[in-house]
Amino acid sequence: MRLHVADHPLIAHKLTALRDERTDSPTFRRLVDELVTLLAYEATRDVRTEAVGVVTPVCATTGVRLSSPKPLVVPILRAGLGMLDGMVRLLPTAEVGFLGMIRDEETLQASTYANRLPEDLSGRQVYVLDPMLATGGTLVAAFDFLFGRGADAITAICLLAAPEGVQVVAERFGDGADLTIVTGSLDERLNENGYIVPGLGDAGDRLYGVV
Ligand code: URA
Repeated sequence: MRLHVADHPLIAHKLTALRDERTDSPTFRRLVDELVTLLAYEATRDVRTEAVGVVTPVCATTGVRLSSPKPLVVPILRAGLGMLDGMVRLLPTAEVGFLGMIRDEETLQASTYANRLPEDLSGRQVYVLDPMLATGGTLVAAFDFLFGRGADAITAICLLAAPEGVQVVAERFGDGADLTIVTGSLDERLNENGYIVPGLGDAGDRLYGVV
């Protein structure tokens, strides 16, 4: 597993505004959107391309286009949905699947409650969107599900990550899997309730309100 912590002043600036408890939902959603686009730029560094000819007004040359099968973007419901627009703006030809994972707030165990994904993901590059890598339980369950369907390579984009969660994912997926985590910040730790410290609170609630 590879961990990439995006080190960029614009990302740090926007994350600081995102963390602020006074930031309201509309502003929070806009900041998430902007951050995802910046992180997606890093995350798609290895997106597969193929050579293609192009004729400019000056001459014929060779460029690239995304290879087939197209990348698959998978937001983890519900908070990952807030990251979808920013991602597909950068990868408009990507396909989108959905994975609903829920975390039991007492045991902190994650389970799948819904999915809308191709049965066979062989040969696919998958981009998973989940704002918070906290205990790692949700992402480990999601990665197991996607690799189980044959996904070739997975890159997860997380706004924030906790060292404990990164460790859990690294232990589960070791060296064998083609797995990358791209995050805007590796925060200090988890608290006793499984929240990232300093973090930003409950990402789903801050995006969509407490429902
Ligand atoms: N999920 C969140 O939304 N926030 C955290 O800090 C941890 C998990």
